[in-house]
Amino acid sequence: MDLGYSADERAFRDEVRTWLREHLSATARDKVVRYAHLDREDLLDWHRTLAVKGWIAPAWPPEWGGTGWSVVQRYIFEEECGYAGAPPLMPFGLAMCGPVLLEFGTEAQKARFLPRIYRGDDLWCQGYSEPAAGSDLASLRTSAARRGDHYVVNGQKLWTTMAHVADWIFCLVRTDAEAQPRQAGISFLLIDMRTPGITIRPLMLMDGRHEVNEVFFDDVVVPVDNRVHDEGKGWTVAKYLLGYERMNTARIGTSKRELERLKSFAGVQRRNGRPLTDDPRFRDRLSRLEIELAALSITNLRFLDRLRGGNPPGADVSMLKIKGTEIQQALSELMLEAAGPMAQAIAPVDEGVLEDGFVAALAARYCNMRKTTIYAGSNEIQRNIIARHALGL
Ligand SMILES: Cc1cc2nc3c(=O)[nH]c(=O)nc-3n(C[C@H](O)[C@H](O)[C@H](O)COP(=O)(O)OP(=O)(O)OC[C@H]3O[C@@H](n4cnc5c(N)ncnc54)[C@H](O)[C@@H]3O)c2cc1C
Repeated sequence: MDLGYSADERAFRDEVRTWLREHLSATARDKVVRYAHLDREDLLDWHRTLAVKGWIAPAWPPEWGGTGWSVVQRYIFEEECGYAGAPPLMPFGLAMCGPVLLEFGTEAQKARFLPRIYRGDDLWCQGYSEPAAGSDLASLRTSAARRGDHYVVNGQKLWTTMAHVADWIFCLVRTDAEAQPRQAGISFLLIDMRTPGITIRPLMLMDGRHEVNEVFFDDVVVPVDNRVHDEGKGWTVAKYLLGYERMNTARIGTSKRELERLKSFAGVQRRNGRPLTDDPRFRDRLSRLEIELAALSITNLRFLDRLRGGNPPGADVSMLKIKGTEIQQALSELMLEAAGPMAQAIAPVDEGVLEDGFVAALAARYCNMRKTTIYAGSNEIQRNIIARHALGL
């Protein structure tokens, strides 16, 4: 097993670094590192910059704009973007709907949707979860009744990230209420968010930001042409897509950048007249975190080595989601601890020591990070997957 980068891979990393230095705007980077709110335009600006360069959809086939990079190059690119402080790329179009269309879409669907996703013309959201269907997704109830050449959709989706700014939603819907097993009655539809009968209600997260929504469907008419794969095959599509989701949540580059930030920040914070980094208890927690992140990085390279050899990642790839999100949460906890009482949004910023805005955002950041162990399949469910499919328990 080879866990290091080859000379070519190191040269590629340098090329990406140089390009990021020249093209990532200071304004965008500043917003990311200060945990400021990123609106639709912030996200799409960065998306379009990468699209112009031809680097927005590395994993897609070259005929649809893919770069032809190896899995290792793709990982290097993601890590460098995270480390540099680039805005996150919304996964719903690029890393979810795109791959689904490439695998299961008709030629007409590919020609209609893929170029628009690539260029950043449309923002997508994901309509899977419902009030009584999260971990147990197969119990979803939003119905789609066939009426000639269209479906009539009724029901509710929940926790829909970005629905309030999205142009399209991909949805799992029930087209057969009687089918057994339940999974066999599910289909996958692409729905224009401007269709009459769609109502979006905001759900505020505990940091006070509007990120997720409830989406209601009331006799929403959707052309049958917008169904991906056969009727009743939505579960096959969903499973394919969830595999991608689990690979995309470790955010190692971002965590490496935040760890460096935490170290320098804690170095100028004082407890009992000494730098916080001299406190053995704090230093112990910091070291543990650093070791865990190094271990995650190596684990990730192990998966890449598997993929490099043409093998699928396997069920134990859930480890990346579990550890990656636990580390993101631990970083936000230690950052909060380093800031102490000043981390409260209402506290004044101590000029000269603390960078304006950053400290005030820490409490909100801590609250926001609670979501990471829930979304993309909760960490408990990921542990079940490892137990069942990797350990055979
Ligand atoms: C910020 C945020 C953004 C999200 N964005 C989207 C989105 O864009 N689109 C979308 O479709 N969904 C989205 N979700 C929904 C997310 O996928 C679900 O919240 C998640 O799957 C958990 O489902 P649930 O909320 O219904 O909780 P439940 O499934 O009710 O689970 C409640 C608790 O019980 C545990 N649990 C449940 N079953 C088991 C089991 N078998 N074994 C052990 N523990 C179990 C869970 O881990 C959890 O701790 C988002 C969620 C959040 C928090």
